[in-house]
Amino acid sequence: MVSTIQSLPTDVVYLITAGEVIDSFMAVVRELVENSLDAGATRIVVSLWPQQWRIRVADNGCGMNLDDLQQAATAHSTSKIHSSADLWKINSLGFRGEALHSLTTLADLEVLSRPLGGNEGQRVIYNHEGEVTQVEIKAIAPGTVVTVNNLFANCASRRQGLPTINQQLKAVQGIIQQIALCHPHVNYQVWQNDKEWFTICPAQSGGKLIPQMLPQVRQGDLHEVNFKIPNLENSSLYLVIGLPDRCHRHRSDWVKVAINGRMIKSPELEQTILSAFHKTLPRDRYPVCFLHLTISPEQINWNRNPTKTEIYLHELTFWQEQITEAINQSLRISETNIKESVQTTRVSNLLKVAEAKGEYNFNSQNSQNSETQNYLKAVAQVSNTYIVAEHSGGMWLVEQHIAHERILYEQLCDHWQLIPVETPIILYQLSPAQVSQLERINLDIEPFGDKLWAVRNIPAMLKQREDAADAILELSWGGDLQTAQVAVACRSAIRNGTKMSLPEMQTLLDNWQRTRNPRTCPHGRPIYLSLEEPALARFFRRNWVIGKSHGI
Ligand code: ADP
Ligand code: MG
Repeated sequence: MVSTIQSLPTDVVYLITAGEVIDSFMAVVRELVENSLDAGATRIVVSLWPQQWRIRVADNGCGMNLDDLQQAATAHSTSKIHSSADLWKINSLGFRGEALHSLTTLADLEVLSRPLGGNEGQRVIYNHEGEVTQVEIKAIAPGTVVTVNNLFANCASRRQGLPTINQQLKAVQGIIQQIALCHPHVNYQVWQNDKEWFTICPAQSGGKLIPQMLPQVRQGDLHEVNFKIPNLENSSLYLVIGLPDRCHRHRSDWVKVAINGRMIKSPELEQTILSAFHKTLPRDRYPVCFLHLTISPEQINWNRNPTKTEIYLHELTFWQEQITEAINQSLRISETNIKESVQTTRVSNLLKVAEAKGEYNFNSQNSQNSETQNYLKAVAQVSNTYIVAEHSGGMWLVEQHIAHERILYEQLCDHWQLIPVETPIILYQLSPAQVSQLERINLDIEPFGDKLWAVRNIPAMLKQREDAADAILELSWGGDLQTAQVAVACRSAIRNGTKMSLPEMQTLLDNWQRTRNPRTCPHGRPIYLSLEEPALARFFRRNWVIGKSHGI
């Protein structure tokens, strides 16, 4: 047989490689918007006409002169890198110089651009090889307008293989939101068939945009942290999480990871995030979390796949530790986040002054010593169920049972200990599955006669309890060690309906606020309701009274 292996004609190679990157409306939008961001745009207008297979992206970025325009769509032409060494210094979103060229092979491309400082714009039309075939002077504002017409017209199979228009539009909205989270300082306007579809207004951080994207989430439901990584120049970690007692989702679609301005898929980092939320959310619920790492470019290899959504990250374990620590910090109660919803408005400042004289004084003494600090003071118990706790920014109602459950659960995770019991606990009529379940969590169990079993060691926390047998029975019903820990914590925690003295409540509060995840119990139920001072002041219309009596 004669070998028929040949090298493919160049245009075919481009069709294939272009197809890898540009395979949908979403991909076209992504490539063009990223170009606008690389050009320093602060306003980006995306217009779609799906039925016409037309997409336009207009920006107020640096623009291109005629020389640039002649070059822009030829194969592998980019202004962003010049040599292979530059591949390790990538600071821009684009670098392959492929997008515009690919678009010329897959569609009709037209670009209008005026460079910053230039006094006129040009409109150029490209042929399918990426060469300019027409140039025309145009009066436009500085910036660039790229129009893609008849997308995939020469690739019927590609058009057919695409999902429905609605699904594609959803994907477009998704990618614009992702890009906006990473580049929040930009105004994004999106049009569909000449009608405004949605707008994303600029904000100081990605977290501040989330309420625009998830209408049921409010700013106070989120917690943001932003820190520099010690000893690593130019590296930083930005994290915004939905507080687990306030928001979560039924899918993991809002576990988002970005690196250096681009959302990526990183199963490893996503898993790190999910693990950090372990046992803080209800069953089958997922956190809202957006992580943006800024890492020196030589730590990253973007060549894991052509759409640049997967990477190889050096020092993965180091970053995983940083992320876990950042999430843990955000979940804990600290001085900075206890007053998270207290805004220092004029009214609340006035209130503080007004109240400092009165009897209703917020307890803010011992606020110097940091680590062992207690922020909460128990003041009363309501319905033998809720502890009323006050702090410098308002008051909380803490449900005693689940707060205690959280404390015990964390103690159990830290020291799960089985201790021998003098008189064995006798269980009756266990199924083989129950017996092996108890063996699986390391209980020492053996037959003790007809349908009877003796258990000779138990979790330390159950030791003094009369209901130890019931507890063991409960554990026999299945689940892993963690499930067993949750069950033991729940059973051992103080019941609702139990009267507590002030010192007992204070001890419980002190221990609870030092837990790692004080917001929710291990089943994901919220532990406290906060009544922050500004909300109370608003509710009681106190600003009116003060305003009038002080003549302002
Ligand atoms: P890449 O982004 O990988 O460099 P592209 O094919 O997407 O490759 O773009 C080619 C070049 O065209 C870019 O390097 C840039 O110089 C120029 N360019 C593309 N879009 C714009 C834009 N909106 N504003 C200014 N320059 C642009
Ligand atoms: Mg590009």
